[in-house]
Amino acid sequence: MNMRRNFLAAALAATTALAGGNALAQAAYPTKPITLVVPFAAGGPTDVVARTLGQAMTKSLGQTVIIENKLGAGGTVAAAYVSRAAPDGYTLLINHNGMATSTALYRKLPYNPLTDFEYISQAVDVPMTLLARKDFPANNFQEFSAYVKSHQATINLGNAGLGAVSQLCGMMLERAMGVKLTSVPFSGTAPAMTALLGGQIDILCDQTTQTIPQIKDGRVKFYGVTTRNRIKALPDAPTLAEQGLKDFEVLVWHGIYAPKGTPKPVIDRVNVAVRAALKDPDVLKRMAELGAEIAPDSKLSPEGLQTWLKAEIDRWGPIIKAGGTFAD
Ligand code: ASP
Repeated sequence: MNMRRNFLAAALAATTALAGGNALAQAAYPTKPITLVVPFAAGGPTDVVARTLGQAMTKSLGQTVIIENKLGAGGTVAAAYVSRAAPDGYTLLINHNGMATSTALYRKLPYNPLTDFEYISQAVDVPMTLLARKDFPANNFQEFSAYVKSHQATINLGNAGLGAVSQLCGMMLERAMGVKLTSVPFSGTAPAMTALLGGQIDILCDQTTQTIPQIKDGRVKFYGVTTRNRIKALPDAPTLAEQGLKDFEVLVWHGIYAPKGTPKPVIDRVNVAVRAALKDPDVLKRMAELGAEIAPDSKLSPEGLQTWLKAEIDRWGPIIKAGGTFAD
């Protein structure tokens, strides 16, 4: 009996010491560089957002935020990778609407976005733009619409794979216009943009964080923005909805996630760094130039992101399922 009591006391002491050790380790977090995993190609819209935020977060965390581009399957390779990473705050994920839409697009997703992650914060909201190669034979949306409807069998639509917002936007466009185009997937819209500039694809729907410079330099044809209202960064550009695609709206939101089980003090520390980054004057300037808006305060808490993600899964699920686009 005595021996048993002694054993229990020793076990309790060991557990307390371990918990104390963990608390100490957490208090010191971060003590080494943090990897922020980006699901799409370097130089593209998600990458630009991640690098801009990562630089500012580095200032506040006192440790470098390293960007790692893990490509494939419309962002789901990166999400699966982070879901299996050590829950210590040194591997984080940034992803956009794909975190929600992939649950409907894939029959077998190797992770559950609602149970396999800790939620840190949202960051910025980014409009999309509808573009075509420079010599595409349509100079405004009405001509675009007529041409696409009569030549759909020959038209290529670039995207960043199933789960990418470019795919979502293209799919919504096809449905709204009643056409079926040939989808050409890339590892991100950075290479898709290169293909558009080179004339290898015809159409691309992509975030302003990559497209504004191309639009302003006249290197692409531009037909409108995907938001409900016109945007400050392109004030003269009409929305697709106002040009006849009734209720058309795709806005890209970004969430930052950690593997399930990452300690709460670590999540809170990263949350503070994200909030600080979103007030950084360099970030504000760059985001405004690229058409991105800082997410409202209600989306900047772990609970705010989790609630939003759930609502987005509920919102997009039926829309995607009705379209019948699936991967295994
Ligand atoms: N814009 C891409 C998408 O369609 C992602 C990227 O390359 O950042 O999701």
